[in-house]
Amino acid sequence: MTAPYKAPLRDMEFLFFELFDGAAISELEGYEDAEPETVKAILEEAAKFAENVYLPLNQSGDAQGCRLENGVVTVPDGFKEAYAQFREAGWNSVTEDPEYGGMGLPYSVSIMISEMWASSNQSLAMYAGLTHGAAKAVSARGTDEQKALYLPKFADGSWSGTMCLTEAQCGTDLGLIQTKAAKNDNGSYSITGTKIFISAGDHEMTDNVIHLVLARLDDAPAGIKGITMFVVPKYRINDDGSIGERNGVSTGAIEHKMGINGNATCVINLDEAEGYMVGTENKGMQAMFVMMNSARLGTGLQGIAAGEQSYQGAVAYAKDRIQMRSLTGPKSPVQKADPIIVHADVRRMLLTMRAYTEGTRALTYWIAQELDHHSKNPDAERREEADDLASLLTPVIKAFNTDVGFESTNHGVQIFGGHGYISEHGMEQFVRDARIAQLYEGTNGIQALDLVGRKMHMHGGRLMKRFFDPLRSYLETESQNVEMSEFITPLSTAFKHLEQATGWIASNAPKNPDHLGGASVDYLRIFGLVSVGYMWARMAKLSMANQDSEDFYRAKIKTARFYMQKLLPQTESLLTSLQAGSDSLMDYDEAYF
Ligand SMILES: Cc1cc2nc3c(=O)[nH]c(=O)nc-3n(C[C@H](O)[C@H](O)[C@H](O)COP(=O)(O)OP(=O)(O)OC[C@H]3O[C@@H](n4cnc5c(N)ncnc54)[C@H](O)[C@@H]3O)c2cc1C
Repeated sequence: MTAPYKAPLRDMEFLFFELFDGAAISELEGYEDAEPETVKAILEEAAKFAENVYLPLNQSGDAQGCRLENGVVTVPDGFKEAYAQFREAGWNSVTEDPEYGGMGLPYSVSIMISEMWASSNQSLAMYAGLTHGAAKAVSARGTDEQKALYLPKFADGSWSGTMCLTEAQCGTDLGLIQTKAAKNDNGSYSITGTKIFISAGDHEMTDNVIHLVLARLDDAPAGIKGITMFVVPKYRINDDGSIGERNGVSTGAIEHKMGINGNATCVINLDEAEGYMVGTENKGMQAMFVMMNSARLGTGLQGIAAGEQSYQGAVAYAKDRIQMRSLTGPKSPVQKADPIIVHADVRRMLLTMRAYTEGTRALTYWIAQELDHHSKNPDAERREEADDLASLLTPVIKAFNTDVGFESTNHGVQIFGGHGYISEHGMEQFVRDARIAQLYEGTNGIQALDLVGRKMHMHGGRLMKRFFDPLRSYLETESQNVEMSEFITPLSTAFKHLEQATGWIASNAPKNPDHLGGASVDYLRIFGLVSVGYMWARMAKLSMANQDSEDFYRAKIKTARFYMQKLLPQTESLLTSLQAGSDSLMDYDEAYF
């Protein structure tokens, strides 16, 4: 029995049009087609597709997984047909460049659609997701010929893409990459090495699989400064663009893993495979960083998607399952026991899931609109502001969303009791599937280091000011508003904790760099809680103005209240832990472990 899923269209539209300024996005040059009515119609179509085509394959895809036989990778039953329908419906082309056959919709629109794909079937969604990542790399750094060759195929979905960074000896530290690239006389390169853990690495759903590979030229400098990006097709491409003979690319194995079993995570062997340089020599990491913001936001989105899916399953179950009586007397006397939704602890879990899911959705959609301003706003100062905010909040969104998304899926299992642990209900799959998002695209620990080690000091603290200054003035203004005090008082306290944590790191990390590493994860969590608190305060205010019209707004106010009272106060204990420094970690003799 697959857990139910209905795309949260009302919440998406509330955020896109009411809380943030979706209409202003369609006024940006190049995004004129994203008029409100068009966006709503697209969201409705995507919802139908997610619910009717992707969702029914989620549990069966997990159970069946992918297979490698005689060098051929087979995806779970139904995936190939669903992907073909996806292609035919044009979903691959949503954000791709109109010059190359794409629809060119704003990123902030695509992120809502992608959330539905990820909620309904994360494994299947990743094939198109990785293709989009590859398209971004080619579009940002490729030559005109490379763009003309690859981008239309990515946009129509007939070729798919992968990102090949990881090797057995390196994941976080890509400076250790060993895959070699040797220049050929015809301008191409022979690429040799083994990449591991490659998502959507091989399959027969598309005519070709195009790998974006990081490798090292013979004379490259050691470390991160000697990495170059190459495009390496599974099948060579003839001069007329047709598919040629097999390239020196093969799948060595499919990883057996904890979750996302419907996605083929492959060991990719490159044996003098013909490849072409993308961008310039030894600038492969910069090419990767071009895509990092949106790729990491995309991973953060998976946290929201998992939380939403699990929440919907848990709510339905909590209303249906009867066990014990309410502490305050029977609530459903006609039944032998009350539905478990009457119990405070079950409500605690449901509301935690909901408050994190809707709160992180707000944060992510806000930053997605900022990224659209960064791409298209004619005002240079506005573009810079948007870029600063997105850069600062990207590690927060990637790590906080996926941490709380994972926590939410765990609550989902808990609400089902022992039945949550049994595969039949689909709840345990959400836990397994959600876990990966905390690991790939840079582990969440590395996101925290990015926040405190790079983003905090970037441009002399300018990025931090972009977030801190408006939040400070928002709190000052709203502190005059008595109706808002139940939200503003706890948010102001949490913001003070964030300021104190920032000050503590600024004065202690220079004395002892281990304090930076020891504080980073606590700091990111405080940052996430405060940013999401800021979103909840804004959502509460807007909802109070509209509360007479719809239950939707009344529920928002109550969820905001729960967030402020029950989740945001974590900042206090996190601050205490952070200020304890790293001595208890680093003074621990290695032999004692
Ligand atoms: C299912 C799956 C799909 C994947 N898909 C892809 C893909 O499509 N393409 C691709 O290239 N890769 C992919 N990956 C690889 C993934 O991005 C890496 O596994 C991840 O970046 C971590 O690298 P690692 O596994 O080598 O861990 P390591 O780098 O060995 O890290 C181990 C631990 O040490 C910590 N650590 C490392 N350095 C530091 C430090 N300086 N300070 C503090 N802590 C540190 C890490 O946070 C982590 O907890 C995938 C992985 C999986 C499991």
